[in-house]
Amino acid sequence: MPLPKLSTFDGDSKAMVVFTDLDGTLLDGSTYSFDAAREALDELRARSIPLVVVSSKTRAEIEPLRSRLRNEHPFIVENGGAVFVPSNYFPFQLTAATAHGQYYIVGLGTSYPRLRQALKEIEQELGVELRGYGDMLLEEIMMRTGLSRQGAALAKQRDYDEPFVVEDERCTLEALTQAITARGLRWTKGDRFHHLMGVQDKGQAVRYLIECYRRWTDRHRDRLITVGIGNSLNDLPMLKAVDHPVLVQQPDSSYEPDIELPGLIHAPGPGPIGWNQTVLSLLA
Ligand SMILES: [Mg+2]
Repeated sequence: MPLPKLSTFDGDSKAMVVFTDLDGTLLDGSTYSFDAAREALDELRARSIPLVVVSSKTRAEIEPLRSRLRNEHPFIVENGGAVFVPSNYFPFQLTAATAHGQYYIVGLGTSYPRLRQALKEIEQELGVELRGYGDMLLEEIMMRTGLSRQGAALAKQRDYDEPFVVEDERCTLEALTQAITARGLRWTKGDRFHHLMGVQDKGQAVRYLIECYRRWTDRHRDRLITVGIGNSLNDLPMLKAVDHPVLVQQPDSSYEPDIELPGLIHAPGPGPIGWNQTVLSLLA
């Protein structure tokens, strides 16, 4: 793979990197289509601006999507559980990375078996049903997400993050949070599920890559502009890590109420529609 180029630094031009969530952000919340963002995606490609996918999805889910996007940039899986960098992408050795096939992988998350064990312990402790992906058959994941059978199978291949639902209204968020943090773990809220995870978050993984891009831009490091786009609470750490945080609307045109940040850009539309308009205006 040829080394992708950052925009040139001639004259006053600046380089940009765009980090994006997938579900409900670049992908439509119900059809999982990115068609509405095509114009902005083409523009990023034309200007050689890296687009980095940052999702709660698994590697197995992101890889085919990345092919459809013709994207050859790094990506972040399972809410920051790991950073995948194509081999030979950055012209220097990566910190804390392991070579694995066509990638260098930087693992930041807690292992899936440990998360599963903790979820079941917490279920016992609180006396309420907590149903994770590991408890669900493919049919249930399909029903809850609208994914195809194949999509659900890819979503089940988890390494660092367990999506779950709380089946009992008696379970308060306070009790849940306490039981999770007592085990040195954390949780966040995505589009459809709560997510049990280790100390990782999307922000930590994004900051790792921003540092790589800054190093790549070398003496022009201060001219690197970072953009982050999301729609749900699990995107907040990513939005905090970038220069230009962007929040797209939910399908009902509302904005996630728990996300407030200085300089937050409210995209004028839901999911990929707001994504398209905001990226085009940032590039104008
Ligand atoms: Mg989302």
